[in-house]
Amino acid sequence: MDLIKYLEFKEELRNKLENELSAESIERARRDPHARRYPRPCGMTIHTGIGCTYSCTYCYIYDMGFPHKARPYPLSGKELLYALTLNPYVVLGPGGTMLAMGGSVTEPFLPETRDKALEYIEVLGPLGNPLQVSSKSVLGDDYIVRIREYAPRISFLETVVCLRDCRRIEPPLAPPDPMDRLRFAGKLIKAGINTSLFIRPIIPNITDRDAREILLMAKEMGVKSVVLGTLRVTASIYERLKSIGIDLSLRLPSSRLGREQVPIRARDLKDKIASLAREMSFRVYESACGANIEAAGLGCYACKWGPCGDLSRLPNVDVGDVNEFIKYLGYSGRVEQLRDNKIVIRLDKGDARRVEALLRELLRREVVIRGGFTKHHCVGGVCGDSD
Ligand code: SF4
Ligand code: SF4
Repeated sequence: MDLIKYLEFKEELRNKLENELSAESIERARRDPHARRYPRPCGMTIHTGIGCTYSCTYCYIYDMGFPHKARPYPLSGKELLYALTLNPYVVLGPGGTMLAMGGSVTEPFLPETRDKALEYIEVLGPLGNPLQVSSKSVLGDDYIVRIREYAPRISFLETVVCLRDCRRIEPPLAPPDPMDRLRFAGKLIKAGINTSLFIRPIIPNITDRDAREILLMAKEMGVKSVVLGTLRVTASIYERLKSIGIDLSLRLPSSRLGREQVPIRARDLKDKIASLAREMSFRVYESACGANIEAAGLGCYACKWGPCGDLSRLPNVDVGDVNEFIKYLGYSGRVEQLRDNKIVIRLDKGDARRVEALLRELLRREVVIRGGFTKHHCVGGVCGDSD
């Protein structure tokens, strides 16, 4: 695997975009967090908007300061792409960093932001990076056709966490009716888009109660895979859910809650829904990135939830190539240990987090760095990962 060609491709793309974009566009992209945010282990989140009108009771974005009104993200498609070419932790190109839209700070296909989301899919799809979108919206046929055209291997996650008295947790002005979402998932599948049911967050006594029915409906619509995810709460989410009769007191990991999101203890519920889904012949993913990797036709063994996807597509590692790659970055170091799913690097000089992020995405294995230095990153007032 030619690792260096990925860096060359990114540089060429950056130069090309610099010739096409205006000075203001370049400046806007340079200042944007997409130009420096560190990807999560499961990929880089792409923000399509700021805020969300859906106002789900269990949502954490309002505690992060995002408004209940939504506006499209300020970067154009090309500006976003340029910002990603500047990001030192991102690999662009087929099999590069996993990209994920939605599921972090907004719903991508709100009426206010869906054209922006589509514009981003149009520029990101042709790169060949595994691309995923998670949504609670229902789109018209014209959108389905264009998504398919721009990103034929996209992984689409359609979220449903309840069927009965859903409006308790997803207010009336909020996302479309879950039955309509399931029908929409069926339409995506008919159009040839790789679509999974996204059961996240699992709300105790609601999602587990409705799980069989949700899965049955999804199966009828042709859905074959499901991604499960645990609820994360802050003090205010806890209070909001309590006020509508959902008591999580026995599931909290600690008695002290604040603005920080903490996952509730719900392994039992996750396992219960997972076995139900498996009994019904669904493929179950513990993490959204598993669905993304599979839709992209790749393999990954970068964490304990793996292996995911097609293991025969796990990149072969050539120790000499990895050592050359480290040198090309201007660092000094070498491979110390190589196992099927893990690679250990001794870094004498260089940014450890950068080497880790790039090699994890390129080699799709756990990467352990010994030595090196770690840079601290300012993203304009938000410390660490702004997600
Ligand atoms: S749709 Fe997503 S981002 Fe919007 S309120 Fe609901 S959970 Fe939050
Ligand atoms: S092994 Fe699976 S769950 Fe882990 S990072 Fe890779 S795709 Fe995601």
